[in-house]
Amino acid sequence: MTAVGEFTSASGGLVCSHHHLYSALARGMPAPPATPSSFRQILELVWWRLDMALDLDIIRDSARLGALEALARGCTAIVDHHESPNAIEGSLDAIAEACAEVGVRSVCSYGVTDRHGVEGARRGLEENRRFIADGGRGMVGVHAAFTCSDETLESAAGIAADLGVGVHIHVAEGPDDVGVEERIRHLSKPDWLLVHGVLLPDEHGLEGTIVHNPRSNMNNAVGYANPSRFSNPVALGTDGIGADMLEEFRLAYVAGRASDVEVSPEAAWGWMENGWKFVPESAEDKVIWATPEFDPWYQAFSTGTSPLSVEVDGEVVWADGSPTRVDEVEVRTKAAESARRLFARLEEI
Ligand SMILES: [Zn+2]
Repeated sequence: MTAVGEFTSASGGLVCSHHHLYSALARGMPAPPATPSSFRQILELVWWRLDMALDLDIIRDSARLGALEALARGCTAIVDHHESPNAIEGSLDAIAEACAEVGVRSVCSYGVTDRHGVEGARRGLEENRRFIADGGRGMVGVHAAFTCSDETLESAAGIAADLGVGVHIHVAEGPDDVGVEERIRHLSKPDWLLVHGVLLPDEHGLEGTIVHNPRSNMNNAVGYANPSRFSNPVALGTDGIGADMLEEFRLAYVAGRASDVEVSPEAAWGWMENGWKFVPESAEDKVIWATPEFDPWYQAFSTGTSPLSVEVDGEVVWADGSPTRVDEVEVRTKAAESARRLFARLEEI
């Protein structure tokens, strides 16, 4: 943090360490055919219908909107986790290109699953492998162990090790994934992203960074992950609900504070800053914030802190409330068109 004026301060670009850019169009979607009454039903009635309806154009428009909204909140790098069973091949390129167009850095992964059979899993693995082998910046994605066979988990871990990248996987988010540590302990590595960890035991023995997503966990009523209990490093993600990392930091702080008055915002601030381990160049990006103090205690009790300008790799990509590389109206117009098409398809699924 640096003070750059009487009422402004500067920082590096923030990093969202777990996002689903395909969910940027989900707002306003038609209500599911029944009201979900459990985490499993939220997956089945909302997200697993939505991902079936995605095509490459919808994915691209959704990612452009999500990247634009990230920049608007000073977030210059997104670690994305994607699934689109009817549009697997090329999906990671569509997301990476959309982010690059807006000026946001991305680390892409395709969430492999056996929910669509052995062939679906094979195609997902191949999309990860192909994208990264072709020079794309990525990790090998896995939806979650509870939707994968042991063979698929081993293949994902093997491909990641061969490519020199980590695995990006949801872990113990809800009751269906309890006991996951027994299945992946022998595979996990320090460069893995273990997303959620809500129902992991304190001593789970997994290697990797735990990515905490407090807003999503509350929204899904899965419980509080209390990530301070783990010896692993911890980072912060949004799980697809935007990329306002300061807002997620505030929520992470107050979620801990809700049951322990001695919790300091410095812990959650450190989790936010750990995103720079995955995208180190973002720490060199430059965000000028409209706030006199950019530090944990001041920001924990601020609301709606906005960037005045954002510079990525030396280029100003956000200034005077607008993106500089893309036309915001065009991005939002195309996103709205894709959303209408997506919602029409959802009525059929
Ligand atoms: Zn997620």
